[in-house]
Amino acid sequence: VPPHARADPGGNVRVVVRVRAFLPREIERNAECLIRMNPDTQRTTLLVPNDTDPANARARARKVMEEKSFTFDRSFWSHDPRDPHYATQEDIYDSLGEEFLDHNFEGYHTCIFAYGQTGSGKSYTMMGTPEQPGLIPRTCEDLFERIAAAQEETPNISYNVRVSYFEVYNEHVRDLLVPVVPHQPPYYLKIRESPTEGPYVKDLTEVPVRSLNEILRYMRIGDSNRTTASTKMNDTSSRSHAVFTIMLKQIHHDLETDETTERSSRIRLVDLAGSERAKSTEATGQRLREGSNINKSLTTLGRVIAALADPKQHRPSRNSSSSVVPYRDSILTWLLKDSLGGNSKTAMIACIAPSDYEETLSTLRYADQAK
Ligand code: ADP
Repeated sequence: VPPHARADPGGNVRVVVRVRAFLPREIERNAECLIRMNPDTQRTTLLVPNDTDPANARARARKVMEEKSFTFDRSFWSHDPRDPHYATQEDIYDSLGEEFLDHNFEGYHTCIFAYGQTGSGKSYTMMGTPEQPGLIPRTCEDLFERIAAAQEETPNISYNVRVSYFEVYNEHVRDLLVPVVPHQPPYYLKIRESPTEGPYVKDLTEVPVRSLNEILRYMRIGDSNRTTASTKMNDTSSRSHAVFTIMLKQIHHDLETDETTERSSRIRLVDLAGSERAKSTEATGQRLREGSNINKSLTTLGRVIAALADPKQHRPSRNSSSSVVPYRDSILTWLLKDSLGGNSKTAMIACIAPSDYEETLSTLRYADQAK
């Protein structure tokens, strides 16, 4: 059983940043890379037009730049594949995913978020492509490899793996493993609270999986069911938070006493909705409401993580600290309560585009307050 409090206060939240390569449209318009990363210090620096210059417009034209620097646990340079410091999908998994899976086998819940504006590389980081699989498929692969190896070594431990996949859209929860019925209004699930398990989604599909292929199949089904809506900013900008959950149960059979003990942990892998503000997409009506609800979940998530990262949270008794962390203020944080704080390990991957200083600055500030 993992200990209730760790010796290093705030050490349970990890914050990393990743900058992506230019997209063809950015190369076309001769975009400039405004990001610098120092591999020795893990410092990320953003170049922004100098706002303190009175002749701001002229300063921009003359490219008077100011440096804004942030230090994170890791700064992943995925901008130029020819660079020796280029961070591959494998590098991201090796430095984060692998360690988090270790925690899961030790019985901890974990949660990894990808945060950032639409088009900054969140899905690429979490899902990836068939050629360049991201954190989710790599975690699944490693999970089943470890189970296969453990079953050879310790046949008295058996493993049970189940997955669920849901999205939070407009403060509603939708099961991504249930097919979308065309021309029917979406079916939303209710949220309940159990005295032992805490908040949960009622009637959410949880499927047992026995192999990597099985889990990947469910992942793809869920992905194709995921809500996307077009906005002016991006044709397929994703407006929902997608939560992929792997439930790992280790059943230990003591051969001497004939007793069995169970150890359960949950692996949450979350692709958040685009963090761009509603105003920059010129959203109206339905879109605007979605925008403010997305911001509500993201703002609350930021406050929850900041509260968890605050060393003060770790001093008082657990009861008094849980009342300060505003889990209840959004559906997303309420449902992820078990995977945030307490004994859980949390990581946020702040994804940034290389040449958009406004959105990038807001992402870096968000990530900075989560440290
Ligand atoms: P988001 O999920 O944040 O909206 P995507 O993951 O869809 O963004 O990324 C936008 C585009 O950038 C995609 O075409 C994706 O393949 C590409 N991309 C993102 N990150 C990287 C990276 N590290 N290396 C190469 N291409 C990337």
